[in-house]
Formats: sequence, C-alpha cells, structure tokens
Amino acid sequence: MNIDIQKIQEKLKTNLSHKRYIHSVGTAEVAKKLAIKYNADSEKAYLAGLLHDSAKEISLEKMNQLIDSKGIAFNDLARKSKAILHGPAGSILIEEEYNIFDEEIQNAIFYHTTGKPDMSVLEKIIFLADYIEPSRDFPGVDELRKTADQDLNKAVIAAYNSTIKFLLDKNEYIYELTFFGRNYLICEQDDKYKK
Ligand code: GDP
Ligand code: FE
Ligand code: FE
Repeated sequence: MNIDIQKIQEKLKTNLSHKRYIHSVGTAEVAKKLAIKYNADSEKAYLAGLLHDSAKEISLEKMNQLIDSKGIAFNDLARKSKAILHGPAGSILIEEEYNIFDEEIQNAIFYHTTGKPDMSVLEKIIFLADYIEPSRDFPGVDELRKTADQDLNKAVIAAYNSTIKFLLDKNEYIYELTFFGRNYLICEQDDKYKK
C-alpha cells in the first residue's frame, strides 16, 4: 500500500484527545506484532489499529449520518449508542477523512467493538489489540496479553467473555452481534476451551 502513515498520524492527532491518540498508536503497534505472528498483512494491521477509533469523538448524529450514507441497518437501541456505532461510523469516515478505501481495513474497524461470527484474522487482531494495547489496565489484562501471544481464538473468546461480563454488571444493553460472535467461536472450538 502506498500510504503516508506520518500524515495520517498528524491528522488523527487533531481529531482525537491525547489519551485516545496514544491508545490508537498502542493498538496499531500491538496489531502489527500480532499480524506478524499470525500471518496477516502487518501494514494493514497497523493502519486499522491506528484508525479504529477515528470516529470516537464525533457526535452521535454524525455517526448516524455516516451509517445512513451507506444504507447500513441498525436497530433503534444501537442507533443511540456511541459505543456501538463508532466502529461502523469510523469504517466510513476514513474514506473521506483519510482517503482509505480498503475493505479488509474497513471491516476490521467496523467490527472492532462488537466482533462478529467468522471474523478474518485481521478483524480478530484489531478486536484484540484494542483490548490489550499497553495503556489498557483492567483485571486480567496481563493474562489476556499472554493468551493473545499463544492462541488467537482463545484470546478472542476471553475478550468477548470479559466484555459481556462487564456489560452485564453495568446492566447495559448488549448488542446481539457480540453474542453471535462469541458463540460462533465457542462452537468452532467445540470442547477445546470449555472449563
Ligand atoms: P474503545 O473504543 O477503545 O474504548 O473500546 P471498544 O470500541 O472496544 O469499546 C467501547 C465501549 O463500548 C467499551 O466501554 C465497551 O465496554 C462498550 N461495549 C462493547 N460492546 C458493547 C455492547 O454490546 N453494548 C454496549 N452498550 N456497550 C458495548
Ligand atoms: Fe473503539
Ligand atoms: Fe479503541
């Protein structure tokens, strides 16, 4: 890919808070390492990691506009949630804002929060890198970092479980794709990871 990463970083810096920019660079670096380990395109992984939260600080209204511009369907509950919409919105925003037209990168950004059934290796990598990049700090993150180094699918399941538990405890609406994605991997792995 013929892309000026430095230019993208400069622009991203103006669109995000300092903390979120650091999180984005951390995600890009972890994604690149995981891509090398799991035979995905490391340049795409870096770029997808860098831009995965590029729509995180735009208004809910703008997120919905971006989604409508592509005729993407979301239910009313999801349409009220920046947490759920910033990935899909970002996957569209990067076309106009960063001139990125790459389906693999865009899908990885689209699904980085929720996951989905049958994710590509790049999609799994962005989903995980977002979770374990160096500035993340939550109980169990070090264990998850080790797992990600050993077994990508096992780490993705652990991340799904952790998010679902977290959202249950907060009594939050949980988007159905998160469950579908988690169950898909559980079935695919059969009994391998069951306790
Ligand atoms: P971030 O953008 O780097 O903060 O990380 P994510 O994109 O993974 O997640 C953003 C927020 O959305 C986090 O607080 C998650 O816990 C939350 N989240 C993830 N899935 C869902 C969901 O299905 N429903 C709701 N309400 N929140 C979710
Ligand atoms: Fe995000
Ligand atoms: Fe993130």
